[in-house]
Amino acid sequence: MVSEATEWEDLRQEILTCQCCPLARTRTQAVPGVGPNSARLVIIGEAPGRQEDLQGEPFVGAAGKLLTELLEDAGIPRNSVFITNTVKCRPPDNRQPTQAERTACRPYLTRQLAFIKPKIIALAGRVPAEALLDTTVRMGTMHGETQQKQDQTFFVMYHPAAGLYSQTKVPDMEADMRRLKQLLDDEHPVKKSEAKGQLGLGQFLAEE
Ligand code: URA
Repeated sequence: MVSEATEWEDLRQEILTCQCCPLARTRTQAVPGVGPNSARLVIIGEAPGRQEDLQGEPFVGAAGKLLTELLEDAGIPRNSVFITNTVKCRPPDNRQPTQAERTACRPYLTRQLAFIKPKIIALAGRVPAEALLDTTVRMGTMHGETQQKQDQTFFVMYHPAAGLYSQTKVPDMEADMRRLKQLLDDEHPVKKSEAKGQLGLGQFLAEE
């Protein structure tokens, strides 16, 4: 019988050596994901960017730094989260992954999620949200909300790069993270509207 550790490592190796789509020819390396394979929270982004392609880890560039800050400020240690992307290889010039690339890569994500069985799957941005929820997503109204699908709990959040382009989104992103933390911790989390009205991060954490 194959042990769980072997199964996980085999999957990682398959991703690292994958030749299933043309991105294999332009990548420096595939980026399977980082974090514990027993994580209660999985965050899924769009695709590796330049830094991720070079370093072999998701969300290590500027957007990744903001993601780490948002997580840690909300009391979610980054190293407790499994972080990955809808496609595991960088699309040239950071263009959006094509439908064919997403389809080719999807079995890897499906297997990762089946292995980890997280409590919550957070979808960072419209691309992963539409891919996993199989529907049109309006970030403006859906961010900070959970969606139930096939026994899985999804949480829609802004892509961290949104906070780099538009500073005005950061307070909403902070509120979403606080809600995500509560969803992870509680059986009866507060509603999005209540989380939004809460005090500044420092005070909120001090009161916890
Ligand atoms: N943006 C993403 O969607 N994923 C990464 O890993 C980095 C930037």
